[in-house]
Amino acid sequence: MIISPCQGRIDLSKLDTNAKLGLDKDTVEKQMLDAQQRVASLQHKLWAENKRALLCVFQGMDASGKDGTVRDAFFLTNPDGVKVTSFKVPSAEELDHDFLWRIHKAVPARGEIGVFNRSHYEDVLVVRVENIVPESVWRPRYAQINAFEQLLAANGVTILKFFLHMSRDEQRKQLLERIHEPDKNWKFNADDFEKRKKWDDYMRAYEDALSETSTEHAPWFVIPADRRWVRNYAVAMIIAETLERLDPEYPRLKLSELEMERLLSQ
Ligand code: AMP
Ligand code: MG
Repeated sequence: MIISPCQGRIDLSKLDTNAKLGLDKDTVEKQMLDAQQRVASLQHKLWAENKRALLCVFQGMDASGKDGTVRDAFFLTNPDGVKVTSFKVPSAEELDHDFLWRIHKAVPARGEIGVFNRSHYEDVLVVRVENIVPESVWRPRYAQINAFEQLLAANGVTILKFFLHMSRDEQRKQLLERIHEPDKNWKFNADDFEKRKKWDDYMRAYEDALSETSTEHAPWFVIPADRRWVRNYAVAMIIAETLERLDPEYPRLKLSELEMERLLSQ
């Protein structure tokens, strides 16, 4: 793997948001298409095999590039087999249920790749930092999430979780582009600047989430996200390698000689 999964206690201040992972930009630009093709052809096999699913969870601060990473990693895949769900502030109906209710409904079916743009982790991140529920409610959620993901894994869902780790300075640059560049204005949200003031609280919440919920069956990867080309390539490579390990197979036709003869004679 280009990056190892999180293990033990995570200190985000020790993980470089600007890392190049030993890559150089020219080579990555040439190899990206190859990584995208690997993801696409394996997705096609996963879809045809129709037995197992892959779930990719994306988390990160505002403007860390969740949308762009998803677009790039799945660029060549068949949209029929890839289901992207973006989790927003929960609706009144969703709030009337447990926090995993809306999540479970969006889990990919056999053969599918599910992509979560934000996820159940918001319920231990924004919900914690903004004091939407008391600690007695959010604290037990780490164990609830681990049990939920274990259930999915035991039922044929392979889970990968990506934290797009960007610096506070890079976020400022990206958020300002949303003001200055007309084709990015639609992404502008004054609330992002409010959340930015609580950067350290968010980092602490992320550190707890990554430390408490990176498991063998649902590992977290901290992706350096200041350089777009590193971020997108690292994610595409981890997905490609995971699909390769799953090694999905096209189902083989099983016809007896007699059936074959009958079909061919029609
Ligand atoms: P965006 O990703 O820019 O479309 O924004 C979606 C917003 O929904 C973000 O501000 C999230 O923090 C927020 N959000 C997502 N899930 C939850 C949740 N469970 N509780 C509260 N806010 C949430
Ligand atoms: Mg936003």
